[in-house]
Amino acid sequence: MLTSLFLLSALFSSAWSCPSHDNYQSHPHLGRRQVRVDVGREPKDWTYDVSADWATIKPEYHLCQSGRHQSPINVVGKDLSTHHKPNFEGYKNVAHPGNFFNWQFAPAWTPHRAEGDVKKLPSFTFDGHEVYNIGWHIHSPSEHLIDGKRSRAEIHMVHVTEEEHEAAVIGIRLAVGPTESDFIKQLGPMIHFNDTAQLEGLQVNLRLAIDEVGGVEEFWTYKGSLTTPPCSEGLRWFLPKKELIVSEQQMVEILAASRFSHRVEQQVWLHDINL
Ligand SMILES: [Zn+2]
Repeated sequence: MLTSLFLLSALFSSAWSCPSHDNYQSHPHLGRRQVRVDVGREPKDWTYDVSADWATIKPEYHLCQSGRHQSPINVVGKDLSTHHKPNFEGYKNVAHPGNFFNWQFAPAWTPHRAEGDVKKLPSFTFDGHEVYNIGWHIHSPSEHLIDGKRSRAEIHMVHVTEEEHEAAVIGIRLAVGPTESDFIKQLGPMIHFNDTAQLEGLQVNLRLAIDEVGGVEEFWTYKGSLTTPPCSEGLRWFLPKKELIVSEQQMVEILAASRFSHRVEQQVWLHDINL
């Protein structure tokens, strides 16, 4: 859903600056600068019930069937990558204001930014490229499999180039452990998949997620695609070996706000896993 999220983000940005939105209420517990707005919903022309067959919906979705390196895939866990090492110095340990909402399947968030200016967003570098985080969304259960095992949920952190082309995604799997996640904790109450409300101005420190998976020191990487139509290719995926640990209560809250949202596993072909 990377492209659609990107479009939604643009829509939300305009909604945020539109004075005609007077149907919000302030959030006393979350700071006076936050507002809750009903942003409605664009119906999608695809569903997860038929994710093996998206290419039949319309010709623009042909890559979902004919692509050379589609996502998600199953990864063999013992083979970690020593190439394309990401550097997260550009992920500063500060919070950014953004819009918290549900992308019709699970919670999601996009940072506020001036139009056409991605360079103030958290960024990381790999292979000499700098890419900027334009938001994240959750899938439930996870899309990627490690040694055939699926996690309960997966966060996709979507990154674009300076020219705003989607270039890299970090796929962070979530697992239940003995401790709470500070990254998840800062979100507050989740927004349900049937809820078209958007909480605007929610401060989120993205660095926490990177730190909670060990700085992505150990990872798998491959050439992949969007995992929703139109399944565009040319993205590099990074899959941290370490799962992001959430408490049982946090996982329940995430799952309760989500609905089934993983694409069927794709055949490994020209993905160049870890190469
Ligand atoms: Zn995704």
